[in-house]
Amino acid sequence: MKLIRFTYRDSEAMGVLKDGTISVISGSPFSNFIITDDTIPIGTVKILPPVQPSKIICVGKNYAEHAKELNSNVPPEPLIFLKPNTSIIAPEEYIVLPPSSKRVDYEGELAVVIKKKCKNVKKEEALDYILGYTCLNDVTARDIQQREGKFTRAKSFDTFAPLGPVIETDGRWDSFNIKTYLNGELKQSGNTGNMIFGLPVLIEFISSIMTLLEGDVISTGTPPGVGPMKKGDVVEIEIDGIGELRNYVA
Ligand code: MG
Repeated sequence: MKLIRFTYRDSEAMGVLKDGTISVISGSPFSNFIITDDTIPIGTVKILPPVQPSKIICVGKNYAEHAKELNSNVPPEPLIFLKPNTSIIAPEEYIVLPPSSKRVDYEGELAVVIKKKCKNVKKEEALDYILGYTCLNDVTARDIQQREGKFTRAKSFDTFAPLGPVIETDGRWDSFNIKTYLNGELKQSGNTGNMIFGLPVLIEFISSIMTLLEGDVISTGTPPGVGPMKKGDVVEIEIDGIGELRNYVA
């Protein structure tokens, strides 16, 4: 099932998207909801980011080939960092290049939405805490990241976390194909089965550090092929079975 958050006639709602039509839901997607008879064509709404997380936890260098292209080794345990929720934008919105950076990269990633509050989750139970999957572009000021050797400033600019378009509640975490296109040209192609630290391990590791809240997002790292964007570009992250996250660069 594809959950979508949107505004329609100035009010915000959530629904289930199927064949181009949204069926509005009543209740919370995190607990109990019903699918109503109220339907709206997708073309008539503004799509919003599918969740408003308290935090985005990102995983760095979680694909060997990506670590290699950064001239870096694979980390011995998960390497995590945070992006603030203020960096999130919706599909079709603009990534704004900050004047302080000369090189801003796309990073197409599978993102996971947490279903319920949890701490110290065992990997065997980790999948019980997942609502579903979406696409995230972990936009990065690469020059700042390399100069500082730190992630916070390079990853946290406003608009640096395009998220969406839907939360797919079905599918296996280790079998999604991820592709990133820049101006229609294929730049990244990977499969989530090639992650170094799989999702159950990541949830166990992250939840041993911090409490995860409903709606929190874990972004699982980018496959190889990262590269820069410039003003006027169109960047699309496509994950089979989830959909396509398209944004423009300004
Ligand atoms: Mg990343």
